[in-house]
Amino acid sequence: MTFDYDLFVIGGGSGGVRAARVAAQGGARVALAEEDRYGGTCVQRGCVPKKLMVFASEYPGHMEDAQAYGWTVHAGGFDWPTFRGKLHAELDRLEGVYRNILGNAGVQTYDTRATVADAHTVALSTGEHFTAKHILVATGGWPVKPDLPGAEEALTSNEIFHLEDLPRSILIIGGGYIASEFACILNGLGVQVTQYYRGAQILRGFDEEARGLIADEMMQNGVDLHLGCNIVEMEKRDGGFRVKATNGDERMFDQVMFATGRTPNTAGLGLEEAGVELGRNGEIVVDDYSQTSVPSIYAIGDVTDRVNLTPVAIREGMAFVDTVFNGNPTPVDHALIPTAIFTQPEFGTIGLSEEEARDQEPVDIYATSFKPMQQSFAGRADRVLMKLIVSKETRKVLGCHIVAPGAGEMIQLAGIAVKMGATKEDFDRTVAVHPTMSEELVTMREPTRSA
Ligand code: NDP
Repeated sequence: MTFDYDLFVIGGGSGGVRAARVAAQGGARVALAEEDRYGGTCVQRGCVPKKLMVFASEYPGHMEDAQAYGWTVHAGGFDWPTFRGKLHAELDRLEGVYRNILGNAGVQTYDTRATVADAHTVALSTGEHFTAKHILVATGGWPVKPDLPGAEEALTSNEIFHLEDLPRSILIIGGGYIASEFACILNGLGVQVTQYYRGAQILRGFDEEARGLIADEMMQNGVDLHLGCNIVEMEKRDGGFRVKATNGDERMFDQVMFATGRTPNTAGLGLEEAGVELGRNGEIVVDDYSQTSVPSIYAIGDVTDRVNLTPVAIREGMAFVDTVFNGNPTPVDHALIPTAIFTQPEFGTIGLSEEEARDQEPVDIYATSFKPMQQSFAGRADRVLMKLIVSKETRKVLGCHIVAPGAGEMIQLAGIAVKMGATKEDFDRTVAVHPTMSEELVTMREPTRSA
């Protein structure tokens, strides 16, 4: 049977674009359909605009510090429309880059919604149908709000980059990556931020000591964080929202933002009808090679709800091309993924938390928390944390957790050593870079405790 294409990719985000490009560069006939903007969540509604907002939000602190260092600083106000205009111009530029990447690689693009008609056929909303030897679903995820009357009027991370005006006050619901990052960003931009998280501590699943320090610092920086607290009622009123909380509080906020998780984009894609198995949360079930229950259909990225991070989706896309087009079956390695959470302070982390590690085997914990030189000189009370979790038996570093300015940059490098299986003694053999914060990672001689 001859097909119109060797590969039809549904979704033009980080994973889909990478797979399409690499397959086409290898000689495959590739098409890609995207119904929204190229670049997907990461470029258009996630990592990239978020990080630019992080930078914008850090300037008030930098200006205060500059004064403490002897500079005369005349700080003005923050002009959101100016920033927003530049932000969207940058996102337009990046979308152009993504389109060029595909065009230059010879990928045929369709700017429309595509669904799966059968194991080898894709249907476009234009009415066209195309056959493909392989279909790759890379449709990502979408924010979800709880089923609460009034919630439809509230924001999610999708809308936050498009606000006409910055609110004076905002309530953020959730304690995950997105809630905690936006609490810090908006706080830095001068918005009065209240955050409700239903659990005992934000950033569930990460190292407890790190989570505790981040929460303390966020509160010290002005985020009004309420733990063990959730929204029970909300009503749009007087240009804002009246919100009732589980702790009995009843307050007005200019805006409410839900950062209560994301759901895989599988609804209405024709997947189940084509025989593709979905999991409990609507995610596409795949094997180690990203193959679905229909052999010609693969899926990568957030739509599979494995590890929902851009670089992981890209890895999955590359492994898919190696497996299907290069005759080199490549399982995706999801072990020991370094990652950063752009709270203020930033959090860089890889491997097991202290709690996970001690459930697995006896461990030594090396941790130090201190006031870093730059901020301490400026009179700030900020503290940082450098922490290593070490196996007693093998001496391998099982986890590394850094809460500090620039922790994202640090964990990328420490992550190489941890991924290579470095022992604590390998860290110790490495000469310290002085004076830095991260030198503590190679100078902690005695364990703080064993567990
Ligand atoms: P998360 O799943 O990380 O967090 C969702 C939060 O909302 C949790 O705190 C959860 O509480 C809470 N929640 C869920 N349902 C409700 C509810 N009905 N009422 C109140 N609270 C609720 O999702 P995010 O949306 O923050 O992020 C999605 C994913 O995107 C992340 O997991 C991450 O993979 C990725 N991401 C990565 C970033 C980075 O790398 N820096 C940045 C942003 C996103 P509970 O803990 O109790 O379940």
